[in-house]
Amino acid sequence: MIKDIHEVKECPECASRNIIHNDKKQQVICRDCGMIFEPLSEEDEEKFEKAAGIDKE
Ligand SMILES: [Zn+2]
Repeated sequence: MIKDIHEVKECPECASRNIIHNDKKQQVICRDCGMIFEPLSEEDEEKFEKAAGIDKE
């Protein structure tokens, strides 16, 4: 799962670097395979981080 769209440097699906960061929608769009990737919502992210205890990155 994506936490920050700007951490994505290449398409997780096809490894293409031909990707677009959409800041408004918080999406990463691959121009080669057309896949759209979205990060966790802030709420979900908080729950996830609390459940994990610490930020492992
Ligand atoms: Zn792709």
